Amino acid sequence: MIREGARMTVTNQLFLAIDSAGFPSRWMDWQEAVTQEVLGKVAYGFGEHEFTFVGGKNRDSGLDSTVTLKSILVLHGVSKLAKRRTTIPLTNSSLFRRDRNMCAYCGSIQTRGLTRDHIVPLSKGGGNHWLNVCACCSDCNVRKGAQSLEDLGWQLLYLPYAPNHQEGLLLENRKILFDQMEFLRSMLPKHSRLAA
Ligand SMILES: [Zn+2]
Repeated sequence: MIREGARMTVTNQLFLAIDSAGFPSRWMDWQEAVTQEVLGKVAYGFGEHEFTFVGGKNRDSGLDSTVTLKSILVLHGVSKLAKRRTTIPLTNSSLFRRDRNMCAYCGSIQTRGLTRDHIVPLSKGGGNHWLNVCACCSDCNVRKGAQSLEDLGWQLLYLPYAPNHQEGLLLENRKILFDQMEFLRSMLPKHSRLAA
């Protein structure tokens, strides 16, 4: 059984792992977070949210065993993996979050029906990578087809960019909590569009 206070199920809740140098390394699902805690790998936790996981009954006391975790967990040791991560996986959900659900051509903001547009079309040699893709509404997508921006006389309303590791963490978690978001945003470079 899983609960926040006594109310909320948190099976999809992700915990933000920070290494002992203060570097955000990755998201952990609740099973991994509980395991890290039980193994003694969590130095401490912080954040406004606290989740209590109730396991089986303790044989001696007859009481439920519980593990309580904060939303941000500092693990012992320094993460080398995160610092090596240079490419953030390109998914539609991360892309639309990067582009704030705004069509790069007409500026309409949509929560449904956005598409991934290849700015230089694949048929004209454009690649499927962060710098050549943008959020695009279905109307603009149909009008653009396989034409280039020069063909159409269109301009991008914002420039695409490749997210760094911290930006990737912000983009990858669709159920991010406010305290986790604030922590990650505090570590972004000033020019990041996700910092605002
Ligand atoms: Zn549009």
